[in-house]
Amino acid sequence: MDSLTRRIAAPPQDRTDRPLRIAVVGAGILGLTTAWALARRGHRVTVLDGGLIPNPASSSADEGRIIRHAYGTMEGYAAMMPAAFAAWRAIFAETGQDRLVPTRAIYALREETPWQGAVARTQACHGLPFTELDPASIPVLNPDGVIRAMEVGGSGMLLAAPILMDLVRLLPRLGADLRSHTHVAACPEGGPVLADGTRVAADATIVAAGAGVLTLLPEAARRFGLRASLQTVAYLGPPPGLWEEAPMLLCRLPGHPTGGVYVLPPRAGTRLKIGDYDTSLTVDPTAPRDPPRASRVAALLDAGARAIAGFDRYRLIAARHCLYTMAPGDRFVLRPVAPGVTLASACSGHGFKLAPLMALGLAAAVEGHVTREELALWAGGHAASDG
Ligand SMILES: Cc1cc2nc3c(=O)[nH]c(=O)nc-3n(C[C@H](O)[C@H](O)[C@H](O)COP(=O)(O)OP(=O)(O)OC[C@H]3O[C@@H](n4cnc5c(N)ncnc54)[C@H](O)[C@@H]3O)c2cc1C
Repeated sequence: MDSLTRRIAAPPQDRTDRPLRIAVVGAGILGLTTAWALARRGHRVTVLDGGLIPNPASSSADEGRIIRHAYGTMEGYAAMMPAAFAAWRAIFAETGQDRLVPTRAIYALREETPWQGAVARTQACHGLPFTELDPASIPVLNPDGVIRAMEVGGSGMLLAAPILMDLVRLLPRLGADLRSHTHVAACPEGGPVLADGTRVAADATIVAAGAGVLTLLPEAARRFGLRASLQTVAYLGPPPGLWEEAPMLLCRLPGHPTGGVYVLPPRAGTRLKIGDYDTSLTVDPTAPRDPPRASRVAALLDAGARAIAGFDRYRLIAARHCLYTMAPGDRFVLRPVAPGVTLASACSGHGFKLAPLMALGLAAAVEGHVTREELALWAGGHAASDG
């Protein structure tokens, strides 16, 4: 682990003797974990969300999220993953609920990529297995076209919906004030301005508004290259007895319009879920997403059939669209946008797993333990591979 990550991941144990008023805009996973990182240090935190808390329309709202040490060629983020796992353990210790379900994860490769060498390096660095399997030995996998099946150790599923609820219960106990149905209209120095013109006075504001940043801070969103992409997921009813022990599958499909699918097995009450890798469709984040577009659902199910064996025996329970807030290079953007105001945007389709660690970084910057420049570079995953 590099020295900056080490510093950020181990904040001072005692509560601060200089509590600040902090406004956090957005109560998705990044906003809630940021509130956690600051409130546990004794800061006076107010979380403002335009919808319900948690908001079912947010990017964080779902049943399960993948967490793994393997981060492909983004080796800076791979280097952060032990600290990210530790941050989750700290949250679970405080909520009293361990919501990480260790789950095997298998990449089904249909072409050679630079991915494999990078993952072999980072898994070895973490002392984790990276094992080639016979594709035919994985009953749920459609082996057609698979040249290699690689299992990456140190993977699991985060139970997203219960985690959000645990944080909503924990934060008031830490002194944080959670305000639902409170739309923020502007974020100048001194604290957010609400839709009715009133101001929430704050020494520092963290804008973790997900795709909402595109309308709340349009100029900054443009400057940092953010956009909203429409994603499709489907929940499936599998044939009985197949998936209880089955792994997560990550299947790129070269040439397929979806780019491929990831498959989360049913665990601890979640449903079997597939989602696509197609991030090409940029949308207005305020546009209605219901009903889901039939062509996108059809493409996802076609990809599912290529990834999963015997797919005609699976039942479609539901499909829906959700948003990724895409950032260049799929990097976190934690950047100042005005004095005392920081934009915090999760990195495209993989922002859940790293949210608590990023939250600790934001808290360290608020307290002056790291500079804004260090925070921005570190969050971009560029500074973490030096140790
Ligand atoms: C289908 C899908 C699958 C994914 N899979 C994974 C995965 O397996 N692993 C992983 O690590 N990540 C995954 N991600 C990514 C991850 O879920 C997101 O990066 C993360 O949840 C984003 O969190 P957030 O808090 O930044 O934004 P959000 O969860 O969108 O929260 C933003 C909040 O801000 C509020 N808001 C917006 N504008 C305003 C305003 N003006 N005033 C007040 N409130 C406002 C919204 O109401 C919302 O509640 C996935 C995402 C999707 C969509």
